[in-house]
Amino acid sequence: MLLPFLQRSLSRVGLRWRHRTTVEVANEPVLAFMSGSPERTALQKALADLKGKTEAIPCVVGDEEVWTSDVKYQVSPFNHVHKVAKYCYADKDLLNKAIDASLAARREWDLRPVQDRAQIFFKAADMLSGPRRAEVLAKTMVGQAKTVIQAEIDAAAELIDFFRFNAKYAVELENEQPLSVPPSTNRMVYRGLEGFVAAVSPFNFTAIGGNLAGAPALMGNVVLWKPSDTAILASYAVYKILREAGLPPNIVQFVPADGPVFGDTVTASEHLGGINFTGSVPTFKRLWKQVSENLDRYRTFPRLAGECGGKNFHFVHASADVSSVVSGTLRSAFEYGGQKCSACSRLYAPDSLWPRIKAELLEEHQKIKVGDPTEDFGTFFSAVIDHKSFERIKKWLRHAETSPNLSILAGGRCDDKVGYFVQPCIIETKDPKDPIMQEEIFGPVLSVYVYPEKQYREILQLIDSTSPYGLTGAVFAQEKSVVAEASKLLRNAAGNFYINDKSTGSVVAQQPFGGSRASGTNDKPGSPYYVLRWTSPQAVKETHAPLGDWRYPYMQ
Ligand code: NAD
Repeated sequence: MLLPFLQRSLSRVGLRWRHRTTVEVANEPVLAFMSGSPERTALQKALADLKGKTEAIPCVVGDEEVWTSDVKYQVSPFNHVHKVAKYCYADKDLLNKAIDASLAARREWDLRPVQDRAQIFFKAADMLSGPRRAEVLAKTMVGQAKTVIQAEIDAAAELIDFFRFNAKYAVELENEQPLSVPPSTNRMVYRGLEGFVAAVSPFNFTAIGGNLAGAPALMGNVVLWKPSDTAILASYAVYKILREAGLPPNIVQFVPADGPVFGDTVTASEHLGGINFTGSVPTFKRLWKQVSENLDRYRTFPRLAGECGGKNFHFVHASADVSSVVSGTLRSAFEYGGQKCSACSRLYAPDSLWPRIKAELLEEHQKIKVGDPTEDFGTFFSAVIDHKSFERIKKWLRHAETSPNLSILAGGRCDDKVGYFVQPCIIETKDPKDPIMQEEIFGPVLSVYVYPEKQYREILQLIDSTSPYGLTGAVFAQEKSVVAEASKLLRNAAGNFYINDKSTGSVVAQQPFGGSRASGTNDKPGSPYYVLRWTSPQAVKETHAPLGDWRYPYMQ
């Protein structure tokens, strides 16, 4: 009864009742992989299938598989004699061909109803959730050195969630319509961006690659996807799943390439419509500068989205629960070898609690197993991604050994004979402004500063001002007033802020992710706002009565 009444009342004041479309989706359950479970059996079979194999991966441009002579290999980080993929770089000419092929497909794709486009992503999510799960997990484990759980939360759960929730948000975006006042009606048309979008992905999350290319495509854009050299195997599997799910040719061009060659070529094109980047700050700054240098040649202002690094903190107050601090910090700092952008790398502990925290951290540290995650499921983390990364982390460890301010409390041994292994390292610093507390390391290195308990307010200010980043951070305190104080003082220090929980582990649609300051443009993938970034809305007014006299009544 209420509904017709509401509809009549709305129409009296000039509004129309609109049916709102809602799409129900839920987060993909994270499977447990217990011994004897069907998912574990399927994964073990998929891992056995990859053993000793090298997959040949082409560039895919203009719906053709293209093999160039610039051949490269992706190796398994924990066993670098195993070449997991043989691929080739697209050169400048091939990239320009990819741009042309994209542009030719753009108009028709953009005009497809969003519901049609969304169906492709729902289908791809179902394939990942079911028959293709084991394959993509195994490729992520072998190629990017992830443990079972780290592959599962990334290449299965997060990627499935990105595809399903983005599709839901895209369809529901159509509900967001302007007011209509008689005799006119107004509507918003959610167009893709004019031109093409360049998606540049990092090595550390298979899901991020799928999302950087997938979200703009879903919104009606055409995309050049440059995957990371060290994540080619899993990225290509995701690309193929999208195609098999119904993504038409030429909507996403799959173009492994040398980073600078790709960056130089896409930013030189007058058709650049946007860059969807995740990776390090220097790379994003370089791209941004190139865009500004080329600004006069573009047909539109390219939209720039960049999610970059972090120097994430755990602040511990004297009222904190010690076991939460210890378990949360070990997971956050060392899972995936500290190679998550959200990994905790600086811990601030009060002197009153430090002896207990230190004892427990060191005791648990001894139990951490580093090794081959495919052979031993008890492995907590594996090798770091490549030789370059291994050398960079070693430099930081050398800094820790030689600096009078720093003492290594545990771990830090490096060995790259078989794989790029770095043992988890805990360092205590006397100087809270040592570079090790400011710069991103992206490895299994945790630095601790012990502060006088009573000075916690000063420490909160110190945390806020120590590093250029603003990605994630956590406060451990049972006293509510301290939590409130910390939330205010650290308001700009983290785009993802945790209270009595670790700084990692954001879930699509639950904790939309991203930070500002040097950490990026904070566009919050995993939220409805993100899909809006990849549209160029058009407002359409239609008038249903003759316009009449051009003169205003008061003029007569
Ligand atoms: P990276 O910057 O080295 O590489 C990222 C991508 O950019 C790669 O595909 C690389 O080939 C490409 N690239 C390199 N030079 C380029 C150029 N001149 N033009 C165009 N592309 C170029 O980063 P990485 O080592 O792959 O990833 C690690 C970094 O990513 C860390 O800093 C981490 O914090 C960050 N990250 C951030 C988030 C987030 O959501 N904020 C998520 C994951 C990773």
